[in-house]
Amino acid sequence: MRIWGIALPARTPVSFVVDGERLRASGSSTSDGPWLLPGLADVHSHPGTEAPADEYAHEVFRRHMLAHRAAGVLTVRSPGSADPVRDRPDDLDLPRLARSGQWLATPGRFFPDAGRRISESELPEAAVEEAALGWCKVIGDWMPDDPPVPLDVLTATVDAVHAVGGRVAVHCQTAEGCRNAVLAGADSLEHGMHLDHSLLPRMAAQGTALVPTFSAFAKSIENIEASSADQRLKDWIRDGWEHAFPTVRAAHEAGVTVLAGTDNKPCGQVAAEISWLVEAGMPVEAAIGAGSWTARAWLGLPGLVDGGFADVVAYDADPTEDPDVLLRPKQIVLRGKVVV
Ligand SMILES: [Zn+2]
Repeated sequence: MRIWGIALPARTPVSFVVDGERLRASGSSTSDGPWLLPGLADVHSHPGTEAPADEYAHEVFRRHMLAHRAAGVLTVRSPGSADPVRDRPDDLDLPRLARSGQWLATPGRFFPDAGRRISESELPEAAVEEAALGWCKVIGDWMPDDPPVPLDVLTATVDAVHAVGGRVAVHCQTAEGCRNAVLAGADSLEHGMHLDHSLLPRMAAQGTALVPTFSAFAKSIENIEASSADQRLKDWIRDGWEHAFPTVRAAHEAGVTVLAGTDNKPCGQVAAEISWLVEAGMPVEAAIGAGSWTARAWLGLPGLVDGGFADVVAYDADPTEDPDVLLRPKQIVLRGKVVV
């Protein structure tokens, strides 16, 4: 099979043949043909359950991952799963998956009965266990009046996971929780609501990414406004939501890696998250990268290059001119096989 077109983000004409799972440069490239991405990427999705406290079901996982694939999402990071099995083999017809084991929840944090429950003193060791496949996910804080995971505990956890070559994603949505995650040297802040902008230069310097998950909060805002939750909680979420837009713009401008993660069902909606990043003030090309090549590179996956993976989504028009183009993939190739 031959694949040719204009590859983003370089905008260079490319021509490849598919050799198994890989792309090989071949033939002459012309400056027409479709626009090519190395697939979209959603770095915050929880395939396998509808809600965190549900039991993991592989048929649900497959349904979620096929929804991603149908939308051109060929890379997914699951920052926290209900799946207790650490050595589950990849389904080769599904998008590439960066795994992080189970959510790690210390007392008073996270949804009741969800995730792996441990004490604060058990957190570093449990994090190393869950990071066996690359990532672990720590619930770093929860409600606004509750203390976050203490800085010394979180620092010991990040250090222990880094020592075995793993990476740490931290759920944080309070100012204190975000601060502790940054000072502990987390690899990513998930949500990052109420993040103090004075921390952005440090995040950029140490390579801590921000995954703002606008899609999930857009839904929470609707739900909470209609609920009987107390007004303080409503105000806190509303403030966090409004603060997230300037935060994302400032983070991008400070050189922080901002990435697209939906944390939302149905799966396959990362194009909507990219639109939120644009609305927050990221340049369109950077926002698309956040849900494509930048996210893949951050996960260690190559782009559309000789020897790279044959993961390609073709579009009829340039998505950097109109991101709605991302809603209409013309052809989807995953691991060298045409799936659409
Ligand atoms: Zn999540």
